[in-house]
Amino acid sequence: MHQHCSSNHQQCFISSTTQDSTPGPGPGPYRRYDRLPPIQAQFSIESDSDMTESSGLIQEYDVFDPSKPRPHIIFIIGGPGSGKGTQTSKIAAHYDFECVSVGEILRNQLLQHAPSDRKWELIAQIIANGELAPQETTIEELKHQFIKKQDAKGFIVDGFPREISQTFTFEEQIGSPDLVILLACSNQQLRQRLEKRALQQGRPDDNTHAIEKRLDTFKQNITLIAKYYQERGLITRVDADREEDDIFTDIKTIVQERLFPKEEEP
Ligand code: ADP
Repeated sequence: MHQHCSSNHQQCFISSTTQDSTPGPGPGPYRRYDRLPPIQAQFSIESDSDMTESSGLIQEYDVFDPSKPRPHIIFIIGGPGSGKGTQTSKIAAHYDFECVSVGEILRNQLLQHAPSDRKWELIAQIIANGELAPQETTIEELKHQFIKKQDAKGFIVDGFPREISQTFTFEEQIGSPDLVILLACSNQQLRQRLEKRALQQGRPDDNTHAIEKRLDTFKQNITLIAKYYQERGLITRVDADREEDDIFTDIKTIVQERLFPKEEEP
């Protein structure tokens, strides 16, 4: 059975005016003193309008309690249709990790807010067009998930990072992932799977234009992201043109070797 990726957004408990910034015990965000200034995204639809104070404030805090070992973090990256969601659910279930799908979180947020909130209405258009959601929104949504599930053993994140600036921002605001798995698929395979999914699921971004745009965006960004993690010895490439179960067998071996080298498989 695959674990269901739960990404329903809940309001972050940091409120703009009532949050006490004093570090202290108990769950929650943790003040960071050694932070570098955040790297600004080039484009943000939040910058001049309803960028809430709370999302500004959250950048001032450590997402995880620095006095405890940080949960493991694995990124699964790959082209649209490479099977990120499927493999993410399988690994999460196998290792009892929390599964975080950035695309799914964004889609849930759209359902909740798009009709009445201009920001989410614009993001809905961006996603339906096959483009990337604004970086601040994406990172904030990701952090909300981490904060909500502080005590998780590990997180497996599907669909992040998708551009090099996300890589830098995550590194700066949260830290380094323990492992990055790149699901490598031929273009032909990606197109075939997306076309099949379009018929089955009817997602608004599975239209021909958006599919081409997403494939292009992936091709443009993956080289730099892969190079960055390769230089740090963090990335492993898995041939994802194969059957689901064969891919999963390889991923399990990689996760076991990298994260739990001395332990028995669960
Ligand atoms: P796929 O990998 O097939 O494109 P996803 O569900 O992972 O499907 O993503 C759907 C869409 O959600 C993306 O095309 C993009 O618009 C948005 N999205 C997902 N992850 C990110 C991210 N890390 N940064 C910005 N936008 C994202």
